[in-house]
Amino acid sequence: MNESFSLNSLLRDNIRNLVPYSSARDEFKGEASVLLDANENAFGSPHSENYNRYPDPLQHRVKQKLAHIKGVPAANIFLGNGSDEAIDLLYRAFCRPGLDNVIVVPPTYGMYEVSANINDVTLRKVNLTPEYQLDLDGIANAIDKYTKMIFVCSPNNPTGNSINRQDIETLLVNFKGLVVVDEAYINYAKQPSFTKELAEFPNLVVLQTLSKAWGLAALRMGMAFASQDIIAVFNKIKPPYNINQATQNIVLEALENVEQVNEWIKLIVAEREKLSQALMQIEQVYHVTPSDANFILVKLEEPRLLYNFLVSKGIIVRDRSKVELCEGCLRLTVGTPEENITLLETIYSYYNA
Ligand SMILES: *Cc1c(COP(=O)(O)O)cnc(C)c1O
Repeated sequence: MNESFSLNSLLRDNIRNLVPYSSARDEFKGEASVLLDANENAFGSPHSENYNRYPDPLQHRVKQKLAHIKGVPAANIFLGNGSDEAIDLLYRAFCRPGLDNVIVVPPTYGMYEVSANINDVTLRKVNLTPEYQLDLDGIANAIDKYTKMIFVCSPNNPTGNSINRQDIETLLVNFKGLVVVDEAYINYAKQPSFTKELAEFPNLVVLQTLSKAWGLAALRMGMAFASQDIIAVFNKIKPPYNINQATQNIVLEALENVEQVNEWIKLIVAEREKLSQALMQIEQVYHVTPSDANFILVKLEEPRLLYNFLVSKGIIVRDRSKVELCEGCLRLTVGTPEENITLLETIYSYYNA
């Protein structure tokens, strides 16, 4: 156990003392036939589905279903307008602008840094090792009394590998702030989710999303799993109706199709392995990072020129060749079998020209 962790002392004073907005839907819960408390249009909405009523601010039905799928109690779930909202709320709840700092471990997801900059919070970068694992000594040296959070993305974007579980546990045990484990790609990983460890680590926040394996990027729904106390902080400061009714309705429907999603995950993992193997056969490919995600980081010859060639053929990948520790690399999302064949053939034609 992390004896020295105190959520209350980690919180910003203004958030601890905040009187949250109380919405009409907060103040009255239950069955009623005449709703005259929220200044809505009682006649309806100009759409075949009625959206005239404000949505459930705490998304109880969606959380119930997610609790069942994820094996995490609904009380330990926060839903955000994408994971990005959860990231931003963490900064706003815990980091005093101009005073506190957070640690990120590049190369990693860019939003942690953008959100830090928006919130005027200092970012301390401790690069991953050349094997794309945590530099625990470097992290320990970077921590001071103003360090509120450490962001660890696992499987990591853009490298695709999982971060050693024991190293994350070392952070959880020793760090007095929050350890945020971003599991946007966990569905493609061999490793189990850290959501199973919530009871053990009061300073753990796990982020997941419906944007990747669930195929719902356009709906914007991210999940944070954490202690009930941390979830209460999210709920206290979030915009009251942050998940709109259309999204809640569609997500409820989509969550019925777990089997379809699991089938896609299997297909994508199989395609990822095929694509990795094929890439490794190419003479101009120097390295393929073993991936636990739905994308592959590939180090190869003339990355920028290949990138441009692919664009000219209507194929868009991510150029990471100028990113520190990803020098010379492109990040390739695993597509359908047809798309992956098109990608490979286009790469062959570039190098054989
Ligand atoms: C794609 C991605 C997300 C998802 O963000 P949403 O706002 O939920 O769409 C989160 N974290 C990482 C590392 C990602 O790559």
